[in-house]
Amino acid sequence: MSAPSSVQLSVVIPVFNEELNLPTLFARLYPVLDALGRSYEILFTNDGSSDRSLAVLRTQHAARPDVTRVIDFNANYGQHMAIMAAFERVRGEVIVTLDADLQNPPEEIPKLLEKIDAGHDYIGGYRLNRQDSFFRTYASKLINFVREKTTSIEMTDQGCMLRAYSRPIVDAIVRSGAINTFIPALAYSFSGKPAEVGVKHEERHAGVSNYSFYKLIRLNFDLITGFSIAPLQYFTMFAMASAVGSLTLVALLFYRRFVLNLDRETFGVFTLFGILFFLLSVAMIGIGLIGEYVGRTYQVVRARQRYHVREMLDVKA
Ligand code: UDP
Ligand code: MG
Repeated sequence: MSAPSSVQLSVVIPVFNEELNLPTLFARLYPVLDALGRSYEILFTNDGSSDRSLAVLRTQHAARPDVTRVIDFNANYGQHMAIMAAFERVRGEVIVTLDADLQNPPEEIPKLLEKIDAGHDYIGGYRLNRQDSFFRTYASKLINFVREKTTSIEMTDQGCMLRAYSRPIVDAIVRSGAINTFIPALAYSFSGKPAEVGVKHEERHAGVSNYSFYKLIRLNFDLITGFSIAPLQYFTMFAMASAVGSLTLVALLFYRRFVLNLDRETFGVFTLFGILFFLLSVAMIGIGLIGEYVGRTYQVVRARQRYHVREMLDVKA
């Protein structure tokens, strides 16, 4: 499928409904890469766009067939699957990922390569002066905090997709066959000598974010449950503590009623309802959490094809 000869640099870009951004992206990205003086390829994954993104990519492939490759998914499988499909096909010694909406300026790529050349195997970008909505910025700070507490992944900014990976890291990611994964975190877990650099962040060039609130929750669930079982353990501890707490409360109620002979009118019913509802909610959260892990196990066990490629436009020398 892919050409065998290797190149020095592969740039991987997931594309989902970005027709308005692609022309500007091309205009800025290709000159940066041409100026590097390294052999390179760019892999675009069209993640089931419903706009003209694919047509725009086809035109670009025709214009620069020497370095442009396009993977076309039949449906939307999400940003991380789009990157995964490209990782399975890259030929580069170094792989850089980047968003298509120009929030990660292509001009920052050389900064990452410098670090790779200095001997690091995985470079994470973190966004200086982040240009996102108030809600996104703070939600992401919160998730950062939760991730720090529940997993052993050390990362300044997990949401920044401008990152560079050395070949062995990408190979390890591909071999892991991970589903529902959060690629930057997976890469971190395979890396021996990671480093980080600050990169500029710009406002989305055109259009709105492709992440709905629901998609964001799914993605962050992937990050936490994909890399740690701490939520399960915290949950069990919390449930145990609350069980002890409510038992004590019931004992206290009995003591007041039968030893001190108080609360004759109001004894029991309301308090017990309160306790019952509380325990019920604890149980429900627990079932949901277990379901989440079981669901993931199921997806891995059934080993279904993770995405489907409709067409692949490859490089032509
Ligand atoms: N993307 C994708 N599939 C999706 C959602 C997003 O391939 O289901 C791509 C999108 O085209 C962009 C990158 O992932 O290149 C980041 O998406 P977006 O800018 O919407 O996310 P945000 O910057 O708001 O985190
Ligand atoms: Mg964006």
